[in-house]
Amino acid sequence: MDEIIKKIDDPDVLEQIEKIIPFHGYLSTGAFIGIQMLNLASELLDIKENDRVFITCETLNCLPDPFQILCGCTIGNKGLKVLDYDKMAITVNKAAAPSQNHVRGVRIFLDPEKTAKYPVFHAWYMNERKVPHEDAISELIKAGNNVYTWEFADVPVPVKEKKDVAICTVCGESFIRKDGKDVCKGCIKE
Ligand SMILES: [Zn+2]
Repeated sequence: MDEIIKKIDDPDVLEQIEKIIPFHGYLSTGAFIGIQMLNLASELLDIKENDRVFITCETLNCLPDPFQILCGCTIGNKGLKVLDYDKMAITVNKAAAPSQNHVRGVRIFLDPEKTAKYPVFHAWYMNERKVPHEDAISELIKAGNNVYTWEFADVPVPVKEKKDVAICTVCGESFIRKDGKDVCKGCIKE
């Protein structure tokens, strides 16, 4: 890990790494990708330090953690949405103005056509062999934004609906009813 720290000359990135290590447990390659994606999105969307942002992350692996600790996007505050697609991709947008129902965002993905130019990192990405995190991250530091592809997108702003709280007719517990059903999701499953 010290070897990696020495290769980073951006003090902001070092500060980000210092926050991620205790939160995620260590600096994984996926967590480092999250840092790079976040910094790239911040540039592309001109995100300032205290701006509220919303992230949709397309994998449960590593990638969601940097956003929770670095920009306060959590699952509970709805700043972070995680889609279980197992893809190294995120979509970022800033908060919309009250009257907007769409807001400009950007989707960034780790592009295998571009990672191919960095063989050690590409081997990690394609899981061709076991690549230590230190080696994969070292190549990512060299590559910078050259391994990412992005596209601006219109992100719909979710409409806030009044919560319709009901008592489940099976378990007798309260739940937020959607689509008028009288049985909670936990009971439908069984
Ligand atoms: Zn129930």
